[in-house]
Order: sequence, then structure tokens, then C-alpha cells
Amino acid sequence: ERFLQVCDVELTEEVRRCLKTPTFDNWQWEDAEMLLLLQLMFLDLELVSEFGVERRALRRLLLRVYARYNHIPFHNFQHCFCVSQMMYGLICITDLRSKMEHIDLLAMLTSSVCHDLDHPGYNNAYQINARTELALRYNDISPLENHHCAVAFELLEEHESNIFRNLTKEQYKRVREGMIKCILATDMGRHNDILASFNAILPTFDFRNREHTDVLMMIMIKVSDISNEARPMQVAEPWLDCLLQEFFSQSDVEKLEGLPVSPFMDRDKVSRSSSQVNFIRHVLLPLFVALATLFPALQEQLVEPVSKALEYYSTMEQALQQHGGTGRQ
Ligand code: 5GP
Ligand code: MG
Ligand code: MN
Repeated sequence: ERFLQVCDVELTEEVRRCLKTPTFDNWQWEDAEMLLLLQLMFLDLELVSEFGVERRALRRLLLRVYARYNHIPFHNFQHCFCVSQMMYGLICITDLRSKMEHIDLLAMLTSSVCHDLDHPGYNNAYQINARTELALRYNDISPLENHHCAVAFELLEEHESNIFRNLTKEQYKRVREGMIKCILATDMGRHNDILASFNAILPTFDFRNREHTDVLMMIMIKVSDISNEARPMQVAEPWLDCLLQEFFSQSDVEKLEGLPVSPFMDRDKVSRSSSQVNFIRHVLLPLFVALATLFPALQEQLVEPVSKALEYYSTMEQALQQHGGTGRQ
């Protein structure tokens, strides 16, 4: 509790403005400062005033969330912060406050904060192949995402950290449904299906249609979740190192345990550039382009930086190939 009160970030206008854009640099901030900035996002979207969220409960929830992210290379509290910050930025840039029900925005921002809670650093394929407790508990169905969501509601059930305690029954039901939908949608195994449903409704998208906004909510958290490459190069590059470090430790363990190894995680098969060229071309860009069709302002803010990153990594990849390397770096 004191942690947050003691910390005195200077919230200048410049910081507040930057917090709304994808250019925000997470690496400049201490954990305590990021906790304060997360609070600021809830306040600034007026979710606190609108839904009677108690400041103490919000602070307590964020501290409990902080404690339930693990100290692992990628899926840590800093990643939680980045995804939440991107979600906040997207909501601001697209002016979603004037387009969607605010209870859905509350669900989206809270989901972002909670979306990788207690991530163990090994993905669903590992959980399933290694028959871990999580895979057994959730019958191999999105074991990690089910776990993140269950932990989220475990924290929200505690009275002191229940930011939803002043909601009506209907509002609570709605926010819980929204959060479950959003967090479960972050399973990349469902990527193609979710993107296909979004592309199918895009030509007739209607903000008054609940089915449409439900898909949009899923797309928004997915975009936020995998948005590192939309950030400036000096912010994005360290994240790639973190991700590959976590991937490589998983594949090392899989080799030791005689489990199947995903090629995109194998340190003998993957380079920084090959990994990013494939991911950006086949996963990131199609997703971002779809969202930018609905919100043209995102063309400049998201699609262009990602296209630049693709160019950068393609050039690097070509140079590697020409030098006849093994593709390793
Ligand atoms: P998360 O693991 O954060 O729950 O879901 C996002 C997943 O998308 C990551 O685990 C990873 O597999 C993939 N991903 C996100 N960002 C990148 C990236 O920059 N490069 C690559 N190759 N994969 C990414
Ligand atoms: Mg996840
Ligand atoms: Mn994530």
C-alpha cells in the first residue's frame, strides 16, 4: 500500500500525453511508477468515477496483480504494463469512449492488466505435452489463459481488492463475461478464427451490435498483447530478446525431457530476423491492417511502424542468407 503512496512520479503533461501513444518507453520506468501509471489509466478513462471504483481497492488490486506476475524473461509485470498501456492508447486514439459502452472499456483495461497472471514461462503446447497440472485441470483447453483468468477473479473476489464491488449485479455479470472473453481470446491458438470472424463483420461493422463489439474487444486485446513491434525500435528490440530467451529455455527443457519442440522456439533453427519476418508478415500485419480498416487513425500509429519493422528485419534476414550462415545469429 505505502509503496504506491511513497512513490512520487512527476506526472507532467508530457508523460500523460505520451502514455496515450504507442511510442511510450516502458524501459524508463520503475515498477512502482508503472503501478501509478496503471492507476492513472483507470482514472483518466473515468472508469473510477463512473463505476464507483474505490481508489484503495484499485491500488490494492494492482499490488496483488504485481505480486502474481512471475520473474521470468517475457511474461512478467513489465509485459502486463505494456499490454495495458497499448490498450489504453488504442482506446484513446480511436475515441472508443464515444463509441462503446463504458462497462466494456472497464472489462478491456482490467483484462489487459490481468491477461498473463502467474504465467509460468512455458506455453500451452508445453503444458499439454508435459501433462502439467494446468493442462490436467483445464483438459488441454487453453490451459494458460484459463489460469490467468481464474487467478484474476481470485484476486477480484477478495474484498479489499474488489474494484467491482460497487457495480450492480448486471454490470458485474457484463464485466465478468467481457473479461473472460478477452483473456481467453489471447490464446494464439485461436488467432486465425478470431481474425476471420472480425474480417467477416468488418464490411458491415456496427457499434450498436453486441456481437460485433464482442469480437472487437477480443481483437483489441490481441493487438495490444502482440504489439511490441509497433513500438520504436529501441523499445521493441529488448522485448524480442526477452521473448527469445523464454522460448529458448522452453525448447532446451523440451529437448531434455524428450518432448516435441516447436521450430519457432528452437535456438538451432531461429534467428531474431527469421522469427520477426515470419511473425510480422503472417500474424501481426494482417491483424493490425484489419483493425486499421475500422479505425484509419491506426494506419499511421500502428501499421506504419510495423511495416518499417518488417523491412528492417527482412533486410537483416537477406544479409544473413547471403553470407551463407545457418540462419543463426
Ligand atoms: P502471450 O504469450 O503474451 O500470452 O501471447 C502472445 C504470443 O504471441 C507470444 O507468446 C508469442 O508466441 C507471440 N508473440 C508476441 N510478440 C511476438 C514477437 O514480437 N515475435 C514473435 N516471434 N512472436 C511474438
Ligand atoms: Mg498469454
Ligand atoms: Mn501476453
